[in-house]
Amino acid sequence: MKVLIGMLGQETNAFAAEHCDFQHFAPNGLVEAKDFIEVNKGGNDYPGGMIRAAAEEGVDLIPMVGNLTAGAILTAECLEQITDILLSFVEKHGKEIDGICLALHGAGRAETTQDLEAYTLTKIREVTGSDLPITVTLDLHANITPDMIRLSQGLFGIKEYPHVDKAAAGFLAMKTLIRIIRSRQGGPAYDMETAFTQLPLLIPPLIGSTFEWPMEEVRDYVLACKEKYGLLDASFFHGFPYTDVKDAVASVLAIGPRGKDQAEKAVRDIAGYVWARRRDFLSRALSPREAIDRALAVKTDGYVVINESSDNPGGGTPGDGTYLLQAMLERNAGPAIFCSIYDPEMVSLAVEAGVGGKVSGFLGGKTDKFHGRPIPIKDAFVCCLSEGVYICNSPVQAGMVISMGKTARLRLGQVEMVVTSIMARQTYCDGPFIAAGADLNHYRLIAIKSSNHFKAFFKKRAAAIITADPPGIQTSQFDTLPFEHLPCNVWPLSSQAAYSGEVQIFF
Ligand SMILES: [Zn+2]
Repeated sequence: MKVLIGMLGQETNAFAAEHCDFQHFAPNGLVEAKDFIEVNKGGNDYPGGMIRAAAEEGVDLIPMVGNLTAGAILTAECLEQITDILLSFVEKHGKEIDGICLALHGAGRAETTQDLEAYTLTKIREVTGSDLPITVTLDLHANITPDMIRLSQGLFGIKEYPHVDKAAAGFLAMKTLIRIIRSRQGGPAYDMETAFTQLPLLIPPLIGSTFEWPMEEVRDYVLACKEKYGLLDASFFHGFPYTDVKDAVASVLAIGPRGKDQAEKAVRDIAGYVWARRRDFLSRALSPREAIDRALAVKTDGYVVINESSDNPGGGTPGDGTYLLQAMLERNAGPAIFCSIYDPEMVSLAVEAGVGGKVSGFLGGKTDKFHGRPIPIKDAFVCCLSEGVYICNSPVQAGMVISMGKTARLRLGQVEMVVTSIMARQTYCDGPFIAAGADLNHYRLIAIKSSNHFKAFFKKRAAAIITADPPGIQTSQFDTLPFEHLPCNVWPLSSQAAYSGEVQIFF
C-alpha cells in the first residue's frame, strides 16, 4: 500500500495589511519532499503522527512538501504556486497511490477563494477523481465548510489549545485512511458517516485555552461524548473569526457508525452544551497598563508573564505592535524583558552601533495603523547581537528550528527589548530569550506576543500569567474589527444570535 503524505496551509488573518506572496508564505522555503520524513519522524506535528501510524501498519509513504503558517490573505499568484507544487506530486504519483493523508489548516483564504481547503481538495480531486480515499487533519481554529467534508473521506481536528495534540490527529487520520483502503481491498468494512453543525458563535482567543476554564470543561465534554456515543472521533472547532469569511464560526463534527444516528446525536449534544454556555465565552480583557499593575501586584516569587494577545504573529499579525511595550517603557518597572518585537531597521542600527553601543530611532508600529505608533527610542544600550536561531522547547513545536533573523537585545532603564528582523513569530518557550543571550531567571516581568501556545511551556514555570488585549488584528474585542464577510448575527456581536440546530449528515 502506498500513501501520499504532505502538509500545506495557512491560517489567514484578513485584516493584515499586505497580501501574502510566496516569499512571506514560506520565508525559509517549503520543507522539501526529500527532507519531509526526516524532519517530521518522531515529531509532535501532524506528519509525525501520520508517519508513526504508517510504520505500525507497514504502509509505504511518498512524501510531498510541508509548510503550515499564518499570515495575510494569499495572493492569487501565491495560491497558484503552492497548488502547482502540490499537484505536481499528485500527478506524478497518482497512478501508484492508494490514498492521500494531508495536513491542512482549515482557516485559509486567498484573493481568489474564501475556502482555501476546499479549493486545494477540489484541485487534487480534478487529478485523482472523486473516489480516491483522502483524509485530512485540521487545526482547532478551522472554519469548517460542507465542501471540505464532501471532498474528503474524513476530517480530523485537534482538541487542545495550546496545540499539543497535532501528532494524535495525524495518527488517527492515517490509521483511518489505511482502514478505508483495506476495506476497499476486501478487508473489514469501514462504514462511517460524518455529522456536522455550525454555531453562530465566535470564540475569543483569550478564553480559548483548553488548559483553563471554561474550555477545559468543553474539551472534556466533547471527549466524554465521543465515548458515550461510540464514535471514531468528535471535534469542537473554535473557528478563526479573523479570516472574515461567512463560515468563520465555531462548529462541531463527529464521525460515527453509518445509519446508527450516533454521530448526529453527539453533534446535537455537544452543540447544545456549547451554545448554552456561550456567556462563559465572553472575553475579559485588560489594557496594557492594567495588566502591568496586576503583574506588579503578584506576590509569588519568580517571573510574571504578560502576553499581548492582540498582536500574536501566530494569528497572522505583524508582531511589531507597540501598545504593551510602550506602557512598559513608560512604567519602567522591572527588571523586565519584552521578547520580541519585529523591526529590521532598528536591528540594522544596533548592528551598526555594536554591542556596548547605543541606538536611537523609532521602534515598531511600522506595518499598519492597528497596533500603535512607533516608539521614539533614545540611547538604548545594545546588550547583545545574535543570529536569532533557536530550537523550540515547547511541546507545541518541539524540536522545530526557528530563525528570527539578525536579532538585537536592547535596554532602556529597567526594560530590555528583543528586536528581530525576519518574519515575526509568537513566543513559545525560552528559546528566543536564549538566542538573545537572556536568562529568564534574571527578570521579574516577561512580556511576549502570543495568545495561548506559550502556556504549554510557561504555565508551569511562571508565577502568574496575565493577558493584555490592546487594539490589534487578533484582539478578542470583536466589535472593534472591520468585518466584511462574517455574518452579523453571531454571538457575541449580536445578542439576538440564534442557533438553528441544523445538523448535516455526510456519507
Ligand atoms: Zn490554531
